[in-house]
Amino acid sequence: MNHRQIGIWLGAVLVISLISRWRVYQSRADRCNLDGNRIEPVRRVDLVRDGETVQSFCCIRCAGDWPDVPADAYWRVHDEITGEPLDASNACFVESRVVTVPSRRDRIHVFKNWADALGHCTQYEGHRIPNPFDPAAAQSNDPGSPK
Ligand SMILES: [Zn+2]
Repeated sequence: MNHRQIGIWLGAVLVISLISRWRVYQSRADRCNLDGNRIEPVRRVDLVRDGETVQSFCCIRCAGDWPDVPADAYWRVHDEITGEPLDASNACFVESRVVTVPSRRDRIHVFKNWADALGHCTQYEGHRIPNPFDPAAAQSNDPGSPK
């Protein structure tokens, strides 16, 4: 091989490796930051800081297990029916016998309004739970009772 062929060969290897890295980076956006599960859009939980998503998770349980949550960040969840993004502090959480992410055995469902949430509870033997991301609500004595 002469210098020109070696140059072309190295250039081709560089381009292929860059394309490969880019594809890995692209698919990472659809994976849970905690366990690497593929994220179903309607189950997606994002940790948002300064208007940007800093971490994404496949379910409420994974997000709850994430150790590094900045004080100025908030949790964005999605309405199970419409997929609409919601601030977790405005969402309705219920736990039922329907598993959302089998590998995590997560049974927490998110709704925008209580009519849909309680409809799910009636249909699937669920009950209302406090916001899992609110430390004050997590210490409540009776998390399962309706407010
Ligand atoms: Zn996960």
